[in-house]
Amino acid sequence: MPLAEIQARIASACDVAGRKTSDVKLIAVSKVQPNERVAAVLDEGHRIFGENKVQEAAGKWPDFRKVYDGIELHLIGPLQTNKVKQAMQLADAIHTVDRTKLANAMARHAQDLGRCPDLFIQVNTGEEPQKAGILPADADAFVAEVRALDLPLTGLMCIPPVDEEPSLHFALLAKIAERNGLSGLSMGMSSDFESAIALGATHVRVGSAIFGERVYG
Ligand SMILES: *Cc1c(COP(=O)(O)O)cnc(C)c1O
Repeated sequence: MPLAEIQARIASACDVAGRKTSDVKLIAVSKVQPNERVAAVLDEGHRIFGENKVQEAAGKWPDFRKVYDGIELHLIGPLQTNKVKQAMQLADAIHTVDRTKLANAMARHAQDLGRCPDLFIQVNTGEEPQKAGILPADADAFVAEVRALDLPLTGLMCIPPVDEEPSLHFALLAKIAERNGLSGLSMGMSSDFESAIALGATHVRVGSAIFGERVYG
């Protein structure tokens, strides 16, 4: 689907929700996509992208940054502690802070690097054992912990279970964010970004609807 069409759908979802289009960022999720497809979207003027693996991001985005100004890169995948420093050097935002060890490592590296990307805490709203993220019951305490480390906490992120109504998870995430005074809500993907916007998403992460299906192999 052309980028312009996704942008139009975001604008109309914002209209319906009585929100400003400028309050919702479209993160074009470029993981696994061939560089030509990514370059085509850059050539259309889009600058906000998401990747879920540090390695893949490192192999792609420093080169794109040499050619295109103003790129804003978001890391949206599970993060290993030994990749944190590299992730912080590469990215403008990290959406997957979900444990104390990771937060502590980030605080340490933020000192060395003299900067820190905008951070989101990932909440495992569906309490799925295989999924990353802090459990909803532990979220308030973890928000306080991250804040106590002086890290730039922007908001919360979730990935609803594939077989459940996503709105329930979006609403839960919004509620946790609100009671913690957090304004950022990273939620909504290709199949459900409009309902995420209705429930307050500030960052939607849209991959296949923009780039086409991912071909792994
Ligand atoms: C891949 C991915 C997306 C994009 O998924 P689509 O269904 O292709 O839009 C969004 N968020 C995360 C965390 C992802 O890993």
